[in-house]
Amino acid sequence: MDYDIVVVGAGPAGCLAAKYAAKNGAKTLIIEEHASIGSPVQCAGLLSTSAIRECEVVPDSGFHPITGAFVYAPDRRRIRISGGEIKAYVVDRRIFDRTLAENAVRSGADILMRTRVVGIDIGREAHGRGRRRILHVTIEGEPDVIGADVVIGADGVQSRIARWAGLDTPDTVLSGAQVSTVYDFEDPRFVEIFPGSCAPGFFAWAIPYHRSARIGLAVRPGSGSGVEHESAWAHLKRLIAEHPVVSEKCDPGIAGIALGGIPISVPQQTAADGLLIVGDAAGQVKPTSGGGVYPGAVCAKIAGKIAADAVMEGDTSARRLSEYDKLWRGRIGRELAIGRRINEWMTRLSDSEINRLIRVLDDGELLDLITRYGDMDHPSVVVRKLLMNRKSMSAFLKMALMR
Ligand SMILES: Cc1cc2nc3c(=O)[nH]c(=O)nc-3n(C[C@H](O)[C@H](O)[C@H](O)COP(=O)(O)OP(=O)(O)OC[C@H]3O[C@@H](n4cnc5c(N)ncnc54)[C@H](O)[C@@H]3O)c2cc1C
Repeated sequence: MDYDIVVVGAGPAGCLAAKYAAKNGAKTLIIEEHASIGSPVQCAGLLSTSAIRECEVVPDSGFHPITGAFVYAPDRRRIRISGGEIKAYVVDRRIFDRTLAENAVRSGADILMRTRVVGIDIGREAHGRGRRRILHVTIEGEPDVIGADVVIGADGVQSRIARWAGLDTPDTVLSGAQVSTVYDFEDPRFVEIFPGSCAPGFFAWAIPYHRSARIGLAVRPGSGSGVEHESAWAHLKRLIAEHPVVSEKCDPGIAGIALGGIPISVPQQTAADGLLIVGDAAGQVKPTSGGGVYPGAVCAKIAGKIAADAVMEGDTSARRLSEYDKLWRGRIGRELAIGRRINEWMTRLSDSEINRLIRVLDDGELLDLITRYGDMDHPSVVVRKLLMNRKSMSAFLKMALMR
């Protein structure tokens, strides 16, 4: 089998990269190791309206609308952030990812399911400016090889494609755990967020999805001390059993468990000779929320287009493909870097500092500012506004001086 472009992984990043490669004239194949796209689900499914737009999907009645958030301090005080209109939707990732795969097929891409890449070689023959890649695969257990001018590694947080190509993989990976269950939401259009020691290095969440709920958290391995080193799953069990707010509202009966890694750092390079990496494989995830669908979609579309252009030009060298690296960093690199700094800062806050922070933000003027400028995909905007506001800035300074 020979293709211009082979995309490894049929997650959102892989499907969108394949769609854009095919749309731009390249003979494109997606390879997916599982028998079913979108399974197993390792996601809360909370996607901003702009993430859904970026994925070129139209919301339907299966999408659960979200208009706001309650953020709870460890001392149970909470702030309510809401602008009234729909800011995000909660989706079923199995259906969502399948829609993206169907869209890639409609644009001309082929898909091979139950096919796993087990190795990758650089072809011996010189091919224009760049060398072909040879993928060693098993198709329904049977060994085979597939040739490609360009391989796009969209194989998720544990990307082996990146490692085989000699590219770095993200060095900071949060550990996430989530259950599906029943939860007593005060308002089913609001998500609930719980920063603090219940989820060291990140936060816990309760997300409504029609009549059920996704309760989860992520922790940063190595952040804090003692109990912080326990697994995300141990923290989640404790959250459900003991957290003063969650334990009161959450049914202990669990209908499903999802565990997974969330990369929050980007590697130095995302392009090599005849190869690109995209999505979680390239750490393209918002460090403030753990959301990877929006940044992955932005970058995947760039990757698909650049890979197809490179094939058409007969130059698939690392130098030619590094245009992808330049373009995606230009689009979202700064936002990811600022997000990383916000995450580092949040990680260092103690429970009592978070209590104080929520008390400061529980103010009409500041809540109005957060509502107006808060953007799940571009948190730097609201942070800049808060840093320019006299009231919040003086409170932040006081907090910094008291550390
Ligand atoms: C608990 C949790 C909650 C989350 N919640 C959200 C959320 O609410 N919103 C959000 O935006 N993001 C969320 N995320 C992150 C989001 O799930 C990921 O960022 C997103 O799925 C990444 O998409 P991707 O296409 O890069 O990779 P994936 O979706 O991981 O897809 C990779 C695909 O590659 C396939 N694959 C891997 N290796 C091979 C191989 N060798 N051969 C063939 N196929 C292979 C895999 O089977 C998989 O289908 C969450 C993550 C976790 C862990």
